[in-house]
Amino acid sequence: MDVSPDHPRYKSLVIREKMSELSDKGIVARTGLIAHGRGEAFDYLIGEKTTPAAKHAEEAIAAYLLEAQNPVITINGNAAALCAEELLNLASEVGAKVEVNIFHWSSERLEKLVSYLETFGNFEILGRNQNAILENIASDRARCCREGIYSADVVLIPLEDGDRAKALKIVGKTVLAIDLNPLSRTSVESDATAVDEITRAVPNIRQAVKDLKDDQKRRREIISAFDNRSNLNESVNCIKDNLTQQQIF
Ligand code: ATP
Repeated sequence: MDVSPDHPRYKSLVIREKMSELSDKGIVARTGLIAHGRGEAFDYLIGEKTTPAAKHAEEAIAAYLLEAQNPVITINGNAAALCAEELLNLASEVGAKVEVNIFHWSSERLEKLVSYLETFGNFEILGRNQNAILENIASDRARCCREGIYSADVVLIPLEDGDRAKALKIVGKTVLAIDLNPLSRTSVESDATAVDEITRAVPNIRQAVKDLKDDQKRRREIISAFDNRSNLNESVNCIKDNLTQQQIF
């Protein structure tokens, strides 16, 4: 489909086309398209921009990743479709492992996703050899890699659902999320949630990593001062303010 760059929803339409193509190829699950729609709706309410609250959370996420001993970034179909290259670059900048973890599991889909991520360069992608089980989770997402999610201390879970965020918390991991819905269980369960669109959030996190890389004192201050619940309240207030300004009638 040809979309004119002048179209007011150009970016959204291009992304939808890409998601649809990757759904045909089996990388994005069909229900992933619905989850994307929920994200778009929240982005509308947020004003399609990074709010000050999101910027603050993105700084905290960068600080947590840099302070981690064994960080892991998990990638599902939607995160791969929207932001693969940025996530892989973030992982190498913070020394994080990358592991594919999917809700709609099949060995074929897992292989497709790992192979897709491998096309972006010389990155090691975990996921083919799922040799451990994350407890407290009923679905196939419990399958994980012993050298990845299972042994991680800090896990970044972009576009996740609440069950897995909770399961990771129960086993004592620090959980970092990117989720446009400040009310989702993932957002609330996590230690730091960037309520931002993933393609804006990840470049912001990378910038914060550059800024904080040589400043451990500042990183520790950011982490100890960060309160995820109050940050989520700020995001909810941004939505309220945005809606108040947008009064039509
Ligand atoms: P929970 O189980 O945490 O309450 P959920 O059931 O809504 O959440 P999913 O349906 O798996 O979880 O949806 C994934 C989440 O990802 C949604 O909250 C949605 O707002 C968010 N999301 C979708 N697309 C994007 C995007 N491009 N950037 C950031 N967040 C997104």
